[in-house]
Amino acid sequence: MRSSSYLIRLSTLCAFVLLLEYAVLAIPIDNTNFINATECPRIVSRKEWKARERRCYEIMPVRPVPYVVVHHGGTDTYCYDQESCSAIVRAYQNFHIDDHNWCDIGYSFLIGEDGNIYEGRGWDGVGAHAPGYNTQSIGICVIGNFTGRLPNAAALKALNDLIACGVSLGKIKNNYNVIGHRQAKATECPGTSFFHKYVKNLPGWTEHPKPHSPNIISRAQWGARAPKSPALNLKLNPAPYNDHMNRRNWADIGYNFLVGEDGNVYEGRGWDKQGAHSVSYNKKSIGICIIGDYSDRTPNAAAVQAVTNLIAHGVQNRKIKNDYKLLGHLQTWATNCPGNSLYTMIKSWPNWSANP
Ligand SMILES: [Zn+2]
Repeated sequence: MRSSSYLIRLSTLCAFVLLLEYAVLAIPIDNTNFINATECPRIVSRKEWKARERRCYEIMPVRPVPYVVVHHGGTDTYCYDQESCSAIVRAYQNFHIDDHNWCDIGYSFLIGEDGNIYEGRGWDGVGAHAPGYNTQSIGICVIGNFTGRLPNAAALKALNDLIACGVSLGKIKNNYNVIGHRQAKATECPGTSFFHKYVKNLPGWTEHPKPHSPNIISRAQWGARAPKSPALNLKLNPAPYNDHMNRRNWADIGYNFLVGEDGNVYEGRGWDKQGAHSVSYNKKSIGICIIGDYSDRTPNAAAVQAVTNLIAHGVQNRKIKNDYKLLGHLQTWATNCPGNSLYTMIKSWPNWSANP
């Protein structure tokens, strides 16, 4: 198995390559979440459910969002009053921060069978709940496990009211689509009963959602120099290359792809070529470099989304195996790359492997 696995490697880029500036959108704090009570249900604020402080927050780049993604909690813990629901929401937040090493609870909102709505990342924050959709959706989780039954009437009413509220506030597109989490990745979520008997019947449900696909800037578009010699084809099919053209006299940039905090993917050696980034893995891996130094901070959501989309795209197009292993550069070579913060982050990503 080992020899036939394609590996994906993340690296930080050494200084002189591409310095791309990412303009952070300065958008004023939005109070509309909690006013306009005639249109919108009451939302239990983070303060009310005693949330931990979030470690980061990023503004949704696509607004109003075109998607609503429905989740269930997936564990058999249910709640019927604000106090016990708040305790479960706090437990979810702890799990997402401490176990997944995320910034905050992953969902935009949570709903209890007490009929209350609990604020997660809210209308305007990028969530962490569905790959390919986090930057273009509101993720709503109903607390409990709905594999064998539907959420109660109070919770379902809250779900519908919340979506209608998002549309009336201009947070969700008028012609939005709804999907269940299982349509974004292989998961039981939001539970078989809930999904088949309810979510699929919601107005706006779509069978054919469109995840964000990576925006790949070609070599010609970023003005690449011609390689000194053609790159070899990957032994096990996909391939990478790097920035070391001048310094190390390598034939071309060593990575297969580079990702910027502008959310774009820059073509290095591309999919099918061998890279020069990790001795002994070059022939069977795709090397992805995130531009910047991630020793002390993690890349922004746009870059993370772009990497997620690129990997998903590679898997879809059979450039990366389904059961690929994700590694940090430091797992294959004595290096600090990809930086402490980024390395800690990728350990929580799907398919990260402790054993290369
Ligand atoms: Zn889910």
